Amino acid sequence: AGADQGLQIRDLVVAYGPSTAVRGVTLRVQPGEAVAVLGANGAGKTTTLRAVSGLLRPVSGQILWQGQDLVGRSPADILRSGIAHVPEGRMVFAQQTVEENLRLGQRLRKDKAAAQADMDRLLERLPALKPRLREAAGNLSGGQQQMLVIARGLLSNPSLLILDEPSLGLSPRLVEEVVELVEQLRSEKTLALMLVEQNPAMAARLTDRVYVMQNGVLRSELASSEVSGNLDLLDAYLGGP
Ligand code: ATP
Repeated sequence: AGADQGLQIRDLVVAYGPSTAVRGVTLRVQPGEAVAVLGANGAGKTTTLRAVSGLLRPVSGQILWQGQDLVGRSPADILRSGIAHVPEGRMVFAQQTVEENLRLGQRLRKDKAAAQADMDRLLERLPALKPRLREAAGNLSGGQQQMLVIARGLLSNPSLLILDEPSLGLSPRLVEEVVELVEQLRSEKTLALMLVEQNPAMAARLTDRVYVMQNGVLRSELASSEVSGNLDLLDAYLGGP
């Protein structure tokens, strides 16, 4: 893949008023690659993701996507360019049905027939959701809601899917469902994944490469296969913000 493919973040600085949360982050996600940003609470992971999807405007730095700088573009425009962001916390519209929630992921798609075909195909892979399309999303279990928000993100047909702590708060069984879905997506190699995790083992399972973030800066980058041999180092970085 050439340098103008995929996502490239350079010297990113993001602040909330006087308080700087991300202090010069440089990272890349190649097409078809899965990358994790690992770090403790408050390290700046979510802030980085929100800058990529246009929800926060950086103080400085570049966010290059397929060669174009995303800085200053609207979230809708960035979504249209092929980046879908699944936020932390299973943000479903609880009163709306599961199907209505899924359709929201498709609202920017022009080819409605292709969108419907994608919906049908995705539902085949999510047996827990399919029988519940007409139920209120708020009735789903936590894990099913997490599946729903990931599915909603996928239905925008992204080239880059951003997941913020996809396994947070799920039971071990539901974590396995999320892992399986992510593994399926990775095996297809059509999509790049960028995800945030606090758990090194989970980050390593879901990705090819891991960046370690602490206090707004990247401390380390390693292959996911190297994570289990470096848990002491990682613990030092993950101990605090
Ligand atoms: P978490 O796992 O808690 O989401 P994180 O690594 O994603 O952790 P961020 O949420 O990016 O961390 O937060 C980075 C820093 O920015 C923290 O010091 C946090 O307190 C601060 N911060 C986050 N959101 C805001 C906000 N809306 N206003 C002010 N400060 C914020």
